[in-house]
Amino acid sequence: MAVCKIVKEGSSILRKKAKPVKKITPYILKLLDDMRDTMYANNGVGLAAPQIGISKQLIVIDTGEGLIEMINPEILEKEGEQIGVEGCLSIPGVIGEVKRASGVKVKGLNREGKEIVCKAKGLLARAFQHEIDHLKGILFIDIAKDIRREVAVK
Ligand code: ZN
Repeated sequence: MAVCKIVKEGSSILRKKAKPVKKITPYILKLLDDMRDTMYANNGVGLAAPQIGISKQLIVIDTGEGLIEMINPEILEKEGEQIGVEGCLSIPGVIGEVKRASGVKVKGLNREGKEIVCKAKGLLARAFQHEIDHLKGILFIDIAKDIRREVAVK
């Protein structure tokens, strides 16, 4: 288990386009493991590799329906619209309203290198869009409205 330090907003790696993974090596699998551990340790619902300082196209997501790991993810289709509150482990304490597609179809590779296609709706669709944005150097605050500090609830 390896929990990594999360790269915070202001770091240039979060603004770079992440590189596609050409070959799934033990190093790539270790990165996926570290990303998973880091996401769970921080109670996140998703994490992209640039957030642990690695500019590669890797994401992990768990919105409560189990772990999804995807290599070189790509959105094939979008449908509908949803508006909801988002935050990001790289921008602690900040939330905002983000308009996203309500449903997405995403293609990528799993850790065995097999192509997988995921159809997602609701929160999972939101998580896919947020994490794939990270791979393009886009942060939710770029597209959010009503950005504000999260108020701690006692
Ligand atoms: Zn994020």
